[in-house]
Amino acid sequence: MDRITPKTRSRNMSRIKSKNTTPELLVRRLLFKLGKRYRVHYELMGKPDIVFPNYKVVVFIHGCYWHGHGCRIDHVSKSNCEFWINKINKNKERDKKIQRQLKHDNWKLFTLWECDILKSHNNTVKSLVKYLNSL
Ligand SMILES: [Zn+2]
Repeated sequence: MDRITPKTRSRNMSRIKSKNTTPELLVRRLLFKLGKRYRVHYELMGKPDIVFPNYKVVVFIHGCYWHGHGCRIDHVSKSNCEFWINKINKNKERDKKIQRQLKHDNWKLFTLWECDILKSHNNTVKSLVKYLNSL
């Protein structure tokens, strides 16, 4: 039941893997518009996508496939290839380890998922801004 063509898959892969992916740009542009100043390429464990040093908040923008979200996007693009499944499980373990360490260092974590951003980046970013404003 794999309806995605190899061509689409490799396009998805390269899109998800590269820096400055579309979901990331959508989020960053809107944050900027809403007056929330953030840092990218901030030197922290796990290379978070967006950091708000003043709020002590770290934001991860997770691609559903690579981080095993278990949502529709993740499901559709998942092939039965054991190599990738193992790789994604390792990513998930790594995510947990990074998050534990960051929390230990008093960072607050906020994870945005690709599927939510693609569905409505407005709502997704608003929930992040609401969170920041509540701190
Ligand atoms: Zn997802």
